[in-house]
Amino acid sequence: MPVFYANFHIHTVLSPCADITMTPDIFLEYLEGLNWISITDHNTTKHIGVYSELLKSIDVKVIPGIEVTSKEEVHILVYFEKIKDAEEFGEIIENSLTMREYDPDKLGYQILCDKNGNFKKIYETPFLGSSSKFSIDEIYNISKEYNSLFIPAHIFRFNGLITNLGFPPENLVLDAVEIKNKKELERAKKLGFKNFIFNSDAHFPEQLIPSVKIETNARTFEEFKKSIMERKVMPLWQH
Ligand SMILES: [Zn+2]
Ligand SMILES: [Zn+2]
Repeated sequence: MPVFYANFHIHTVLSPCADITMTPDIFLEYLEGLNWISITDHNTTKHIGVYSELLKSIDVKVIPGIEVTSKEEVHILVYFEKIKDAEEFGEIIENSLTMREYDPDKLGYQILCDKNGNFKKIYETPFLGSSSKFSIDEIYNISKEYNSLFIPAHIFRFNGLITNLGFPPENLVLDAVEIKNKKELERAKKLGFKNFIFNSDAHFPEQLIPSVKIETNARTFEEFKKSIMERKVMPLWQH
């Protein structure tokens, strides 16, 4: 069975906190060694189409994703089967962001690329680093109107589910949680979590590296989901 090298938490130059060099041409240059990724910008899905299309030329497959900031300031990764669904969900989230005006010199520029991957314009509003007016439960419910996976990001770190809430929510069936190292894996298991995903949360080109290895037949959303549920996502620990 083929083995794929993946990383499902990657920001582009559209995320205000991502490096200004996270452009499609840098992805084309740096993604060597990766063949399956997800584009998960903060609170927007506007770059998924462009990056997915351009990365076809180096045979990198993209799972449509987003990193949503809930009202509780918890970061949640949502992955979709279809780009169209991700884009629709992304619009709902963008429209729910609390901070419209912002100073890009202080908080970072949001750069939008055209379909060829070139600079199109500075995306001025809303501030994509702000939080949504939706709570975790509301985001969960909206996400489940689509074929999607709901996976809280870096749960023990800044803006993490456990850091901010202190305990796992009882009423939600989380598809998995994102953790960063073996110590966090043990901690998450003790809290009762069963499914895991391991990513680099790339904001800089040097973080465009494989974080997991998956043995599967095809790089589809269904295989991605199955690999998580059957615990076949093998971490490549970096730290
Ligand atoms: Zn985050
Ligand atoms: Zn992130």
